[in-house]
Amino acid sequence: MVENQIQISDIRDYFAPTSYPILISGPCSAESEEQMLATARGLVCIPQVRIFRAGIWKPRTRPGGFEGAGEKGLQWLKKVKTETGLLTCTEVVRPSHIELALKYDVDLLWIGARSTVNPFLVQELAEALKGTNIPVFVKNPVNPDLKLWIGALERFSKAGISKLGAIHRGFYFFERTNYRNAPMWEIPIELKRQIPDLPIIVDPSHICGNRENLAEISQKALDLDMHGLMIETHYNPDNALTDSKQQISPESLKQLMAQLSIRKRKGDKASQCALEQYRSEIDKIDIELLDILARRMDIVREIAAYKKDHNITILQIKRWQNIINDRLTNGMNRDLDKDFLLKLLQLVHKESIQVQNRIMNTSADQ
Ligand code: PEP
Ligand code: MN
Repeated sequence: MVENQIQISDIRDYFAPTSYPILISGPCSAESEEQMLATARGLVCIPQVRIFRAGIWKPRTRPGGFEGAGEKGLQWLKKVKTETGLLTCTEVVRPSHIELALKYDVDLLWIGARSTVNPFLVQELAEALKGTNIPVFVKNPVNPDLKLWIGALERFSKAGISKLGAIHRGFYFFERTNYRNAPMWEIPIELKRQIPDLPIIVDPSHICGNRENLAEISQKALDLDMHGLMIETHYNPDNALTDSKQQISPESLKQLMAQLSIRKRKGDKASQCALEQYRSEIDKIDIELLDILARRMDIVREIAAYKKDHNITILQIKRWQNIINDRLTNGMNRDLDKDFLLKLLQLVHKESIQVQNRIMNTSADQ
């Protein structure tokens, strides 16, 4: 595995450590000076909001829609900063956007999901940022590809950007789910494991695509120890020019924040001790599980040798069907979740087929 080479400077101060979780909020798109200022005035009363967001250049699925206000939007953003003292951030899609954003003193830039998918574009943006010290937050690529996400972070890191962060906005998923973009939490968790110092902001607005699930996703983000939230707000969300279904008013954001439970990152001494005990139980059980799996694989190898000698196919569909039925019933009687069981059985079965395949297709003299 390639070692993580990304150097990250501590930007917690930047986010005012007293107001965890940090909130980045503001409209999907800058539409008018009135909309920007009215939204910002509503947001400034929410203590966790430190950074005001607004899209200035909007990548749209089809041409002809509202494609952003461009440079005049940056003038409104600057007014928001002067009037409210909020830091500002916007998405940059081309090197010329970076130049303009710097001209209008934007404090933080983010790279959109449709840009992260394109290493050539990311490289161009990274080169345009050389010599600046502006924080850059990289949204995950549209498709669930962690390597592409890390690759983009590495390109900015190599260009000398050390105030780096990630934004988790969910992933395109071929099946219909309750979300506009499936959260697939295992991916940001793995990102956190590989680059522990990297701040990760969760964007419930683009994950949900609606207002109803925002609280659930925001709570989940906090439960998973993510650093903050990016939530789209608009003073008149129903009439927003982009993403109107998912934007909420600053007032609703305030209510949403009041509903969230903020967890401690670490318990006190007594709870640490109690957790240690539970964990040592889990450690023992995991070793037992590994022993059992290893024993199961030993038998799979014997079966493979037998099938090879008797020229019998690896896949025995009836047997596999019986295993699924029997183990699902058994597992569910033990209060294990059906989807979890099915995934586990499929994983074990896939490995078993691979092992048998190797044995049956290796000739004796090899
Ligand atoms: C946005 O934040 O407005 C945006 C376009 O997001 P994404 O790149 O995640 O689609
Ligand atoms: Mn949006």
